[in-house]
Amino acid sequence: MLRRGFLFPPILILAACGTSNRDARVDPQLAAEIAKIQAIDNHAHPVRPTLPGEKPDDEYDALPVETLEPQSDPVRNRPGAPELLDAHKKIFNGDKAAAAKTYGLDYAVHVLDQLNIETMLANRVAVGPGLPAPRFLWVPFADALMYPLPTAGIAHNPDQKAFFADEDRLLKRYYAESGVTAKPATLDDYLTKVVRATLERHKNAGAVAEKFEMAYLRSLDIGDPAKADAEKVYASGKGDYKALQDYIFRFIASECARLGMAVHFHAAAGGGGYFSVAGGSPMLLEPLFNDPSLRKANFVMLHGGWPYARQLTALLTKPNAYVDFSEQTFMNYPRDVSEGIRAWLEYVPEKVLFATDAYPFAPPDMGWEEAAYLANWTGREALGLALTGMMRDNEITRDRAIELAHMVLRDNARKLYHLK
Ligand SMILES: [Zn+2]
Repeated sequence: MLRRGFLFPPILILAACGTSNRDARVDPQLAAEIAKIQAIDNHAHPVRPTLPGEKPDDEYDALPVETLEPQSDPVRNRPGAPELLDAHKKIFNGDKAAAAKTYGLDYAVHVLDQLNIETMLANRVAVGPGLPAPRFLWVPFADALMYPLPTAGIAHNPDQKAFFADEDRLLKRYYAESGVTAKPATLDDYLTKVVRATLERHKNAGAVAEKFEMAYLRSLDIGDPAKADAEKVYASGKGDYKALQDYIFRFIASECARLGMAVHFHAAAGGGGYFSVAGGSPMLLEPLFNDPSLRKANFVMLHGGWPYARQLTALLTKPNAYVDFSEQTFMNYPRDVSEGIRAWLEYVPEKVLFATDAYPFAPPDMGWEEAAYLANWTGREALGLALTGMMRDNEITRDRAIELAHMVLRDNARKLYHLK
């Protein structure tokens, strides 16, 4: 005891002298509480475990990043980054292959158990064996439905060329699943027989939201065109294709509201050296949030709008706007992520959602498991830093901080998706 008493005070004094608020660490009691909370992960791309002899899963994204031309990767995600190596060691003690063999189809569930994630929203083209509900809840993709006309003329760079080819394939799949063999003659027929049919099928299969990767394909600036204009473009195949896309988007958003599914947007910087950061700004979504006819649709801005995280705070006052902090949580460091989270929590805390964006970026070193590990750790740490800062500035008590931690990690998502 004497020895401990001797050792500890100098460290405490050092910490007290050298620290501004910015350098402070997470309040230990709060950190312990945050670690215990079984999280709901608002957005991720888990890989479906497959059995020996089965085709490896390739449905974890409608627009897989493998086709992207090289870019300058953020430091934290470069091959050999120490945190990634550490994450790799922590997942199943560094032996994922042995764990995959041991757990078989239960492998993905065991990954969630290791991270104290109770439920992961699986943003995938399809779900299936190995990703069981309610541990995994499906979020399918709706972009393909916006492009019923040929897309060659709207692909402006090599990354988009590959992406539009992906969307064309997915639309064919949606046609086939809807029992439609050719492009319907009228826009109304298309909206009913392909779009509505697909959304209803998704809903019936357990989907809780539809995801848009629109920012990879075009700007988030979505207009409000007249139906007659959209119909003309649909029928003739000529004219303002964007007007047709915008019209279809609005139909999808209204249908999502009717069916009780949220609308997820990639609303932040994104992968690839051709991605338009300005075109992916969440600020472009404001007219949608403000449209009285879409007030019943709940929109979730994924990835915390980075690098527009601060500006996005103002959008959270819209009753139908939500935010998660996925993606940032493995690309950026906890301090940076915490600054956005703190701004949102000081404003509209019931709209803020924890998420990882776990994705198989570069398996085996950075599989979805390592991304989940890094983002789960960073997200909890960033949340702790944000709340600790608010406590130290006497904005909230520790009890309220713990309550807010439960809201962000769990309760806000439960309310939004009507989960038990
Ligand atoms: Zn994602």
